[in-house]
Amino acid sequence: MPKRDDHYYLTTPIYYVNDVAHVGHAYTSIASDIMARFQRLLGKQVHFVTGTDEHGQKIARAAEARGVGPQTFVDEISEGFRELNKKLNTSTTDFIRTTEPRHLKAAQKIWEAANAAGDIYKKSYEGLYCVSCEQFYIEKDLNDGVCPIHLKAPELLQEENYFFKLSKYTEPLKKYFDAHPDFVYPQNRQKEMRQILEEGLDDISISRSVEKLSWGIPVPGDDTQVMYVWFDALTNYITAAGYADDEKFFDTWWPADAHVMGKEINRFHSLLWPAMLLSAGLPLPKQIVVHGWLTADGQKMSKSIGNVIKPYDVIEKYGLDTFRYFLFRELPFGSDGDFSFAKLEQRYRSDLGNDLGNLVMRTVAMTQKFCAGVVPSETSGDHEEIWDRYRAHMERWEFQSALELVWEYVRGLNQLIDHEKPWAAEKEGRHSDVEKTLYTILEGLRHIAIALQPFMPETADKILAQLGFEYFNPQFDTLQEWGLLKSGVPLIAAPPLFPPLTE
Ligand SMILES: [Zn+2]
Repeated sequence: MPKRDDHYYLTTPIYYVNDVAHVGHAYTSIASDIMARFQRLLGKQVHFVTGTDEHGQKIARAAEARGVGPQTFVDEISEGFRELNKKLNTSTTDFIRTTEPRHLKAAQKIWEAANAAGDIYKKSYEGLYCVSCEQFYIEKDLNDGVCPIHLKAPELLQEENYFFKLSKYTEPLKKYFDAHPDFVYPQNRQKEMRQILEEGLDDISISRSVEKLSWGIPVPGDDTQVMYVWFDALTNYITAAGYADDEKFFDTWWPADAHVMGKEINRFHSLLWPAMLLSAGLPLPKQIVVHGWLTADGQKMSKSIGNVIKPYDVIEKYGLDTFRYFLFRELPFGSDGDFSFAKLEQRYRSDLGNDLGNLVMRTVAMTQKFCAGVVPSETSGDHEEIWDRYRAHMERWEFQSALELVWEYVRGLNQLIDHEKPWAAEKEGRHSDVEKTLYTILEGLRHIAIALQPFMPETADKILAQLGFEYFNPQFDTLQEWGLLKSGVPLIAAPPLFPPLTE
């Protein structure tokens, strides 16, 4: 039975636990959460998975350097990612770790399926391996002999390994890309992958000898070898969908609707992973969603420059929703973007404080003053229709455009106040005009709060609470109707949503 349209499964990458959680992880997780929450607004059931990737050479070495066993090491770092996930208020439904038994079962099962398809063979191999990437390089892909990402010379490895016949899938993948023009999103990332396909894929080593590296999942039937970390890691997406332990659950959720990630791991997701799935006879994910990198004040973030943005610090000072808003309002999703505190503070003051916060504050105040603090009579007066455009932007991951649209609406309502001047209208005895204006704004704010819910869930709830609106079981089709805010309902005044920043 094909997967139902009202089920949506999306994933962040599982994060590699050799380092602590940073702003890049936060960016990926929040982007995914925005989509997860939007899909729930559409009334869908959502399975949203994140987790940690815990095997491989780099981790074994990092643990050794710390003088602890690898399991102790990954337990600790994985917990840090779990904490960050909570801190970011992401609405995940599962947190997977590759050291869990369910994952070992799934990784061995897909290995056996690929093996049964005749796609795994053993050969002796010598190659240049970047431990930081956990990836072999060929000479031509290095920059002056060093890894283009880590700027370190790779190590020469020589051993007998198992290989996966990736080359066999060059043509099937080309065909798949042709038939699914949105498979890799956005287009520039798709083009990069097509270029690699044009050159043809090479078979890749998918195991390491236990003598060299014991921290991995055993190759089925050969205890002298463990799986290559990427072959193991990518499998997490089917593990979390129940691949090896719950057939019904697997049929409910697989294939994934979207795998979200940064561009540095696009290649593994857009080429290797689909090839593994084809080999195992499994359906491919519907979309690979690739975002760019963040710089800080125009420079690459690095510990040596000391310009690394720490998500906890930003959240502590400006609030979580400000952080979530800024990342997706300022930086176009899919391209590289620049994080700067000056720009963040500017957005805080103008967009959040002046435009949105002020609109809520003064509307509630005027309603108290002129309408006894309750929602005035309903009107079907002029109002903005944002939903078709909003939905189209959201479905295409155009988060920046969706937010621009919402802010046009916010500014329009501020202008309505300035134009209608309810305080003057009240003085002139035009009370029904005052009611009409205030209802238009209050009901508009309800729409705005719902459109913001995927981006700023706490702020959305706060606005809806002030409107006295009970927010439960959201359904896009009904929420976008005009007039759901009932007259006579008392408003609940609250402190400013975005108080002035203190130095
Ligand atoms: Zn590298």
